[in-house]
Amino acid sequence: MSELRVRFAPSPTGYLHVGGARTALFNWLLARNKGGTFILRIEDTDVERSTRESVDAILEGMKWLGLEWDEGPFYQSDYFPLYKGYVQKLVTAGKAYRCYCGAEELDAKRNLAMAEGRKPKYDGCCRDLVAQPDDQPHVIRFRAPQNGATSFDDLIKGTITFPNEELDDLIIQRTDGTPTYNFCVVIDDATMSITTVIRGDDHVNNTPRQIQLYEALGFPVPQFAHVPMILGADKARLSKRHGATSVIAYRDMGYLPEALLNYLVRLGWSNGDDEIFSLEEMIQKFDINNVGRSASVFNTEKLNWLNAHYIKNSDPEGLADLLKPHLIARDLSTHNGPDLVAVIKTLQERSQTLEEMADRALFYYKAPTVYDEAALAKFDKELLLAVFAAVMEKLSSSSASDVAAIDALFKEVCSEAGWKMGQVGQPVRIALSGGTQAPGIGEIVVTLGVAETVRRIGAARDFVAGR
Ligand code: GLU
Repeated sequence: MSELRVRFAPSPTGYLHVGGARTALFNWLLARNKGGTFILRIEDTDVERSTRESVDAILEGMKWLGLEWDEGPFYQSDYFPLYKGYVQKLVTAGKAYRCYCGAEELDAKRNLAMAEGRKPKYDGCCRDLVAQPDDQPHVIRFRAPQNGATSFDDLIKGTITFPNEELDDLIIQRTDGTPTYNFCVVIDDATMSITTVIRGDDHVNNTPRQIQLYEALGFPVPQFAHVPMILGADKARLSKRHGATSVIAYRDMGYLPEALLNYLVRLGWSNGDDEIFSLEEMIQKFDINNVGRSASVFNTEKLNWLNAHYIKNSDPEGLADLLKPHLIARDLSTHNGPDLVAVIKTLQERSQTLEEMADRALFYYKAPTVYDEAALAKFDKELLLAVFAAVMEKLSSSSASDVAAIDALFKEVCSEAGWKMGQVGQPVRIALSGGTQAPGIGEIVVTLGVAETVRRIGAARDFVAGR
């Protein structure tokens, strides 16, 4: 194992967002590429907003994607005494101090600053108080350097510098004694020996404050890599307004985990012009330095294209397991009817999602009770009746059982009666599936079986005859 240690640190206030999943993926890939360690840390210090359901949803999403972690999950809420100890350490060293300013007083100062066109910033009024009573409500603030600048070399964005005079004395402990977010992150990343922090670029502004805390505590500063946001087509940050954003919603819509991972890795990262990466290839080729600096736009069509690719190339037995929940959701039992694996083989080439595949599988297990009237209306009643009769006759008197032999029978029907293939294939497809969106005739007949095929064509003939 190398020294590299990375972490994914979601706040459990919702489901696993695709943006969070991509951050997790980049961390995981870097760890696997470098033989490092990937840690999962749940940042649940915001007790009001954090929920157990959200933790479960995040873990479920991570597991479904296969982003297994090496250490954790660690929960920040288990470490309050640790954070308090470090707050005390800074106070003792004179690097943090008690601030007795009330919220109203601070608000008034902030409003005045804004009214006067100054940047609102804590004015340092409690920095050097002599009297520091224990029994008065107070927060603890970090004594931030007031001159100079804080700078870091972001692995994605390059060098970023903040003048220290723009940074307030950060509150590190609230009046109720609880530590604040930026402080906990630093203590955790330091005590977990994180070497590289990969996270969304909404955290860039936290980074100089965190670096100042590392330095004040004598901890080595990790490397940072801030990943640009994912946007919707309108270039606004991707949100529910744009459609599904939860990883589990993509599972339920019938995406394969490898397709979503492949899609997410390419949102921001590239390796030449390649689009398709197996997990092994991603791990082998991933390089955090090749993550682009600009935000990426989520494109469902490309995700669909990748999903279709993975569905086409998956082994049908594995797909059968993944497809089952989608069939159950449609109240479909596959016990009476063709073998599910055989059905899947006829649908793999033409399904973008498992939801679509499940819809297309329905007709195999439920004979049509209605027919696409508009499609039927394209053919004369006499022709339909003649075609159905000829096909039933031909199938019943043959022992053909493979696709090529069945296709040959249909050609015979055509040539014997002088029909075109479209005049025969399409009516039969409607008879068997109810509509025109179905696999090739030979595939359907072989999968359904000749007896069931003849029965269904008979039902369609009765329907047409009675019109
Ligand atoms: N908990 C933070 C979030 O969910 C991540 C903090 C970090 O990665 O440093 O946005």
